[in-house]
Amino acid sequence: MSVSRRGFIKLLGAGTACLGLSQLGLDLKPAQAYAARLKTEGCKEIISICPFCSCCCNTLVSVRDGKIINIEGDPDYPISGGGLCAKGAALRSLHVSEKRLTKPLYRAPGSSKWVEKDWDWMLEKIARKVKDQRDRDFMLKNEAGLEVNRLESVFSLGTSQMSNEECAVTHQAIRSLGIVHIDHQARI
Ligand code: SF4
Repeated sequence: MSVSRRGFIKLLGAGTACLGLSQLGLDLKPAQAYAARLKTEGCKEIISICPFCSCCCNTLVSVRDGKIINIEGDPDYPISGGGLCAKGAALRSLHVSEKRLTKPLYRAPGSSKWVEKDWDWMLEKIARKVKDQRDRDFMLKNEAGLEVNRLESVFSLGTSQMSNEECAVTHQAIRSLGIVHIDHQARI
């Protein structure tokens, strides 16, 4: 019988726990059966990756009836060995959290209230603000008279939800505006 590394770890963990507690005279079979039923029973297991940083840790996504039931690290992945950092460990909430925003919210200057807006309104607003800022602050030359063509008053913070390709296109667009202050959420 061939046993994968993941299967081996499961067997080892279950075997060790049962051996230790059964020596105390406890019958763990009902609890084990209940726990197994609770989580991923009947799920399809899909290998995916955490998108939050360039480590790209593998994840095992358990899906039942089209819904994500559980996400955990993949012990067979040689880079992380099944570990996930706090961001990766919270991956499931990206998909199922009731607190996740699904529409843009806008808070006007001086206001304490967030107001729902549609994407067209929001993109127009962002574009207008960037354009106005660039028109105001774009530097052709620095103090020494050297040509620099840059915009120092706008900062771009990338999201870890973007693919490499999206990052590349966004980076080119930002550079074309002269923006020089760029960073990424994964470094924070
Ligand atoms: S954010 Fe954490 S879990 Fe995700 S790829 Fe990076 S190190 Fe791995």
